[in-house]
Amino acid sequence: MKVEIVTTGTELLLGEILNTNAQYLSRKLNSIGFDVLYHTTVGDNPQRMQAVLEQARERADIIITSGGLGPTRGDITKETVMAITHTDSYLDLDTWGRIDAYFRKKGIPCPANNEKQAYVPIGAEVLQNEVGTAPGLWLDYNGKIFIMLPGPPSELMDMCEKQLFPRLLQRFADHGIILSRTLHLRGVGESRVAEILDDVIMHQSNPTIALYARYGEILIRMTAKAADDQAAAKLLDTCEAQVRDYVDEYVYGVDDASLAACLGQELLAQGKTIAFAESCSGGLASSLVTDVPGSSEYLLGSVVSYTNKIKNKLLNVQQETLDRYGAVSRETACEMAIGVRRVMGSDLGVSITGNAGPSASEGKPVGLVYIAVATEDVVYCQEHRFTSTRTENKLRIALAAISMAIDKLKEEKKQA
Ligand code: AMP
Ligand code: MG
Repeated sequence: MKVEIVTTGTELLLGEILNTNAQYLSRKLNSIGFDVLYHTTVGDNPQRMQAVLEQARERADIIITSGGLGPTRGDITKETVMAITHTDSYLDLDTWGRIDAYFRKKGIPCPANNEKQAYVPIGAEVLQNEVGTAPGLWLDYNGKIFIMLPGPPSELMDMCEKQLFPRLLQRFADHGIILSRTLHLRGVGESRVAEILDDVIMHQSNPTIALYARYGEILIRMTAKAADDQAAAKLLDTCEAQVRDYVDEYVYGVDDASLAACLGQELLAQGKTIAFAESCSGGLASSLVTDVPGSSEYLLGSVVSYTNKIKNKLLNVQQETLDRYGAVSRETACEMAIGVRRVMGSDLGVSITGNAGPSASEGKPVGLVYIAVATEDVVYCQEHRFTSTRTENKLRIALAAISMAIDKLKEEKKQA
């Protein structure tokens, strides 16, 4: 079944809000076997919305709209669908009663203009809104289905989970499902993975294999189409085994895996603890590590040592080191890692010092970063260059530090 998602609202076109409804609907619909082939976004303009809906009707079987079901004159989605399907509406007393009850529960009188929301196109089915006032609508017309959903994400999601998805699955019970699985890789570049897997990807049609890079890791997404979950999982198992034959050494997790979780697992497995001394990353590495439940088992604490004074006072970085080599230097990074390890009493001390941008400082270029990992006997240090915006650099730097900590833990384990 071909689906087009039509998100409406001028605020989307102005970039005032992020189109999360399109993402949510796509993800969910694909996962239950519907082919979402188009996303269209249109403002609250009757002519343009009509043109978009007519186009959607030509190329999709199911047209799902979001937004524009509110009580105001600017909410025109239902009216526009009615215009292109030549449908009239009637005042649905049941829906009107529900809207009235919604306001009564809140202790406020029902505004008169909400009556507009209780008009239902003839032949349409109402999808109850248990969170807000705008009812959703399902209208079969000439072999096509128009589904109208409210704009507020909490209302749309509640309606989808409770009513729309079960209804779609019932109506299209036998069209199969789509299942995805994602492998997370580290320590290898995207082009290298593409090269290694070229043959596999070229000769693979179900599941399909897609590669993409994301902040310090490479993702391999396999997507299978099959009659049911079990059959799709079997296809994915075979595909995963085939892919792992080539890249298994780089795979560190599946589906919801993250570098921070991977670090946590490694620390737990080895019974070790960690502490961070962060300068240009501002505590982000520690924050990512604490996103993982149970991280208090291994993260003892961290210092955001942003100024030289704090690097010196709290971490015991020698004033002479700071004067001679600067805050952004291999020498300072090493002393920070040793210092935080000692202060916190952890097995590992990880430090980050650098210039996140956008302008050079201390005569050091933008994006130059040193990351050090101190263990009981050794201090390792890496130099990096990051080239994105300040905010993005911070994330990349934090992830690079986490990644380096994983590497060193694994290397030390091998040597032991
Ligand atoms: P509407 O039903 O068009 O009046 O939309 C109500 C509210 O829902 C808007 O003000 C937005 O805050 C939100 N909204 C509408 N469309 C979307 C969308 N595609 N993604 C996320 N939020 C949305
Ligand atoms: Mg709107």
